[in-house]
Amino acid sequence: MTTAFITQASAMEHLAPPGHAEREARIEAIWSALGAPAFAALARHPAPRADAAEVLRCHPARHLDAVGAAIPEAGWAMLDPDTFVSPRSLDAALHAIGGVNLGVDLVLAGQVANAFVAMRPPGHHAEADRAMGFCLFGTVAIAARRALDHHRLARVAVLDFDVHHGNGTQDLLWDEPRAMFVSSHQMPLYPGSGFPTETGAHGQILNLALPPGSGSAAMRPAWQAALAQLRRFAPELVLVSAGFDAHSADPLAGLTWTEADYRWLTHAICDLADACCGGRVVSTLEGGYDLTALAASVAAHVAVLMERGDDRIGGDEL
Ligand SMILES: [Zn+2]
Repeated sequence: MTTAFITQASAMEHLAPPGHAEREARIEAIWSALGAPAFAALARHPAPRADAAEVLRCHPARHLDAVGAAIPEAGWAMLDPDTFVSPRSLDAALHAIGGVNLGVDLVLAGQVANAFVAMRPPGHHAEADRAMGFCLFGTVAIAARRALDHHRLARVAVLDFDVHHGNGTQDLLWDEPRAMFVSSHQMPLYPGSGFPTETGAHGQILNLALPPGSGSAAMRPAWQAALAQLRRFAPELVLVSAGFDAHSADPLAGLTWTEADYRWLTHAICDLADACCGGRVVSTLEGGYDLTALAASVAAHVAVLMERGDDRIGGDEL
């Protein structure tokens, strides 16, 4: 079975202020990397625009209204010192949500083995009532709720390997017993949360705090232990917040992951999905700010998704 690659032009229309790390060139770098002949077999789908009702799966209407009201007619508006909106940002954010939702729909329908979504703005820092950390809405948490409430799954897992704690996803899924959330992140680092003592209302949140300067030797055993716990949770779908800013070349953080680490972790995630849910993985872009490292890391991640998808027989049922 194939891997879906979901993206759309609006990812380039959320315009970053000059010098901002979360910029359009990130998407261009990914498009270029995944345009190589090795990725010709990807099933390419445009990200559709999600309805506002999808946002409301996780956010109160006042948050959607506040983001809409902040959109400027030209230039930029800052929602906090890091988080900007430009005239087309709401449209881009809704396409990002629609993209991950499409990945969920395609994978659950058995049309593709797994999916990678490259859209921006990212989502894992957005809390219920607060845009922050370059993020407007909790894209991956919304997709989790869609899988649970629309597709009637009983359990989903959300795995976040961005170098920053997925505080927004944690906030949105804090009281959701049907979703297990695991985040690995450098600590200390922005946003300052993600202590192992933060375990969710039902003990279903697991935070893996990694020391600055650490690499494979710290992250692999931490994820191995987390993935063993995830197997006991037995998710019916695995969602991934795929940030690539733990890479040694990334300018925003201080971990020393390599492409080989992303390859290893993607295989480990696919092992979990194979064991629990017929290989169903939907991965969506979060951070990653060194363009060369981002392109190489995404290529490593997607190549493993394709390899593992090829191993699966079409239409295989749980
Ligand atoms: Zn990040």
